[in-house]
Amino acid sequence: MKQIPQRTEVPTELTWDLTTIYSDDAAFKADIQTIKQQSEQVAALKGQLAESGADLYRVTTAVLDLNRQLERLYVYASLKNDQDTSNATYQDLSGQASNLLATVAAATSWFEPEVLALSQDALQKLIDAEPRLAAYQHLFDVLGKQREHTLSVAEEKLLAGASDIFDASSKTYSVLSDADLVFPIVQDEQGNDVRLSEGLYGVLLQSTTPKVREQAFKALYSVYQQFRHTFASTLASEVKTHNFTAQVRHYGSAREAAMSGNDIPAVVYDTLVKTVNGHLDSLHKYVNLRKEILGLPELHMYDLYTPITGEPSLSYTYEEAQQEALKALAVLGPDYVANVQKMFDNRAIDVVENRGKRTGAYSGGMYDTKPYILLNWQDSLESLFTLVHEMGHSMHSHYTRTNQPYQYGDYSIFVAEIASTTNENLLTDYLLKTQTDPQVRAYVLNHYLDGFKGTVYRQTQFAEFEDYIHQQAAAGQSLTADFMSEFYGKLNQHYYGDGVVSDPQIADEWTRIPHFYYNYYVYQYATGFAAATTLAQRILSGDVAKRDAYLNYLKAGSSALPLDVMRQAGVDMAQPDYLQTAFATFDDRLAEFSKLARELKK
Ligand SMILES: [Zn+2]
Repeated sequence: MKQIPQRTEVPTELTWDLTTIYSDDAAFKADIQTIKQQSEQVAALKGQLAESGADLYRVTTAVLDLNRQLERLYVYASLKNDQDTSNATYQDLSGQASNLLATVAAATSWFEPEVLALSQDALQKLIDAEPRLAAYQHLFDVLGKQREHTLSVAEEKLLAGASDIFDASSKTYSVLSDADLVFPIVQDEQGNDVRLSEGLYGVLLQSTTPKVREQAFKALYSVYQQFRHTFASTLASEVKTHNFTAQVRHYGSAREAAMSGNDIPAVVYDTLVKTVNGHLDSLHKYVNLRKEILGLPELHMYDLYTPITGEPSLSYTYEEAQQEALKALAVLGPDYVANVQKMFDNRAIDVVENRGKRTGAYSGGMYDTKPYILLNWQDSLESLFTLVHEMGHSMHSHYTRTNQPYQYGDYSIFVAEIASTTNENLLTDYLLKTQTDPQVRAYVLNHYLDGFKGTVYRQTQFAEFEDYIHQQAAAGQSLTADFMSEFYGKLNQHYYGDGVVSDPQIADEWTRIPHFYYNYYVYQYATGFAAATTLAQRILSGDVAKRDAYLNYLKAGSSALPLDVMRQAGVDMAQPDYLQTAFATFDDRLAEFSKLARELKK
């Protein structure tokens, strides 16, 4: 067994340098005091913004500046905490940053209601009277859209007071599934007795022994099925909360309310569902191929995650991976590559695992810091994919922050995953162009196909279910366990086709999907993945104008509405074309993969 080092044993060059945020912890602590004072000053600005354009400017910039200082402090504390979560000093700093977050939120809570209390005309007159406010026009336009959905002060107070009660069903869901459910003992690949958990379930479903997968599946669902009426109750209440909130805020539906946050029109959602439904035959083909290659008499839902190509005979050290990443991303131009190189050279990446380090990977930082990446590096192709994914987020942040003022220096979730997934697509293309070993090519192709299946198909299936239960509840249908399972079972069969045996347990899968409590969130995974496939093709076409249109998206931040930003990048997400292009890519890669997988099996 490889020993995981202590934080202090990790070579400095493999750790991130956070001294560019605060030179030391003392500087951080001094800033806490400064921000507390600044909060009091900002709290005292209440009631002043409507007096003149100059006042609106003064108050708006003071509120934004306070948030900016807070973010810097918060980012430092959370990065420090993540590098070793067992370190008491940084647990404490992180706790102090969270407290300060609440302080600042309370000190500025009046700002948006005061702006929205102004009529659109009155607000525009103030903006026009102060030239420096022109740079904030879009910010006020976006905020102004909430005006017709904001209630009276008394009603807003009532809703705010009830917000904890509205959260009760999702909290109950989390506590029940994360803390209270106890799963049975099952056997792992080596025949050892292991206590099943959601985490282990994911591992066991990748087992190459069919019995291990089947046993894990049946054991897991035996527990969820015992509680299916409780889960139906929490989910039904959550849906009612979404519907109720949308109704009192004068939205046409819960979906419209949820999507208005990023100003995404309903047509984006409907186009996704319709187009995916038109391409289910490709998924059926993939499923049938799986059955054939695995040599199974029957393919069950629990056979969809085991690797069909075996492990890739390809591994990279971190140094080799850096070189591969630079080559794969070279199509984005010399400036992009130079900025990636800077991330490598300036210790912006915390590379290796150490005891207590947060698991997984992410890209972090804020407007006034450089982008940072947390990795838990393994010498694998999977880690190389993670590196270029997080680099996509970091370069998006870099270009946004160096081209936009602070007020537009972030970006919405709807566009965020497009930058990271585009990079993964560029890496896939690069590997397919440079790797000739059929085993490696099969692995790379399948990596894409599995990603597509899990993101485009599966998340759209979730989106369809989510929309159906919201609509049914709004029409007066009670969301019982049987009602939801009947629809879910049919929907699942419709998506995967007759090549998969419809195990009765899968009809209850809705019981264990936390995303159904996220309020119309999942569709963005599917739209983002498809958009990234299309954008990667445009970049790879060699047309510099198309590449530059993509780079302009990275530079746009939140200076325009997400759909407009993507349109300028070359993808109109209100039209089905970008999805069609993605499906064509899926079909091409599936065709090559089928051929390779059959040859390799011989
Ligand atoms: Zn990501």
